[in-house]
Amino acid sequence: MAGIHVHHHDLVDEGPEAIAPWLERIDDLTEVFVQVNDIYERNPSPVGVLERNPRRDVVLGQGRLLADVPASDLSPRLWQECGSETSEAGDALALVASSPIGERYRIVPWLNIANGQWEGAVDENGVVDLNGRVVPRWLCPNGPDVAPMWIAVIDAIVRRYGYTTYLIDRIRFPDWGGETVDPMNLLSCFCASCRGRMVEEGLDEAEVRAALTELVEAAREERFDDVVAAFATPVVERWIAFRQQSVTRLVRTIVDGVRAQHPEVELWLDMWPPAYSWILGQDYRALTAISPKLKHFPYHRLGGGADVQSLIDALGATPESRERAFRAFARLFGVDYGLSYERFRAGGFPISLVADQNARVRELSAPGTYIYSGVQMWNLPPEELFEAAVASYASDADDVIYYCYGWAASELIGASNGAREAAAERKSC
Ligand SMILES: [Zn+2]
Repeated sequence: MAGIHVHHHDLVDEGPEAIAPWLERIDDLTEVFVQVNDIYERNPSPVGVLERNPRRDVVLGQGRLLADVPASDLSPRLWQECGSETSEAGDALALVASSPIGERYRIVPWLNIANGQWEGAVDENGVVDLNGRVVPRWLCPNGPDVAPMWIAVIDAIVRRYGYTTYLIDRIRFPDWGGETVDPMNLLSCFCASCRGRMVEEGLDEAEVRAALTELVEAAREERFDDVVAAFATPVVERWIAFRQQSVTRLVRTIVDGVRAQHPEVELWLDMWPPAYSWILGQDYRALTAISPKLKHFPYHRLGGGADVQSLIDALGATPESRERAFRAFARLFGVDYGLSYERFRAGGFPISLVADQNARVRELSAPGTYIYSGVQMWNLPPEELFEAAVASYASDADDVIYYCYGWAASELIGASNGAREAAAERKSC
C-alpha cells in the first residue's frame, strides 16, 4: 500500500498530532518514511515554502544525523555530524513512535548513506574525481569505514527505537547536481581504495583515465555524439561495471552486517530510475538479489528524477549546442521521446516515462521484487498529481510513495485519491 516521505523538520516543527489528520486524507496510506539524516537540500526544492510549518518557511539541510545515537562513539574512525543539541534538533523518530502516526502506519526510517557532513577519516573515505578533486560530502562505496559505520549506526537505531524496516538512500556515486552543478562528479572515483580495487580486479587505471580524459575533451568541444560513443567502449563499460560492483558490495556488506545482529530487519532500496541508475553505480539485477523492495522516482516533471536541465545547460554554451547535448543525453539514457530541449524545458518528459521506467525496473529486478514508484507531490497542479498516480498504478509498479508531505501544498494532499481505481478501470478498458 502507498507510502509518503516525512522530513525530520515536519515532525519536529509541526508535531505528529498536527500532521496525522493530513495523512488521513490520503487513501490507502500504510507507510510513513521518516527522515533520519538530512541532505544538503533546500526544503522545498528548488522553490516554494513549507505551507503548514508554523516555525519556518524554508529549511536548508545540513547533512546531519538526527537520531539519538552516539555517532562518534559508535564509529570513532568515521561518523556523521549530529544535530548539535538534541533538544533543538528534536527526536523525530521518538516523537513519531508514540504518536497517532506511529499507531496507525508502519514507520520506515529513511537513511541517506553516502552523502552528508562527515567527520573523522574523511580523506580516506571520500570520493575523488578524475582530476584528483575531492567531491565534497560524498563517501566512496569502497571507503574502508563506510559499511562498518552504517552497520554500527543502524544497529544502534534498531536498539534505541525498535524499528525493523529501513529505506537506504544515496547508495551510489555522486550525480552531477547538488549545490553546484559539476558533471565531473560522475567521473569518479579515484580514491586510494578504488585504485587498489581496480588493480585487484584487473582494471587498468591508466587506460580508464585515458578513456575518460578523451570523453571530457569531447564534451568540452561539444562533440556530444562522441561522448555517447565513449560510453559504449569496452574500457568505459568495464569501469561502469566496476562502479556498480562497488555499490553492490557496499549494500550487501551493510545488509549482511545488520542482519547478523538483527535477522528480522529489512533494508529497502532507494534507487534512481533505470534510465540513469547504471551511470551512478546502481545495478538493479544485483541489488534486488539483496533486498526485497525498492523505490525509484520516475518523476516526469523533473526529467525522471534527474536535474537534466542543469546538466544540459552546463554542457552546451549556445541554444544550438544545448539542443545537440539534449539529443545525445536522450540517446545515452534511453529517454528519447522526440522532444526538443526547448519543449523539454517547458514541460518535462511525457507522462509515459512513468510506465516505461517501471516496465524497465520490473524487467531488471529479481522476480518478486516489490516496486514502489515515487510520485512527485509538490510544485504541480492537483490534476497532474492525480494523473501521475494513475500512471504509476497502471504501470508495472506495485505501489506508490509520495514525495513528500512537507513540500506539498495543502490542496495536493489527497488529490490522488481514486487514482488506483481509475488505473484499474483504464487497464480493463
Ligand atoms: Zn573511491
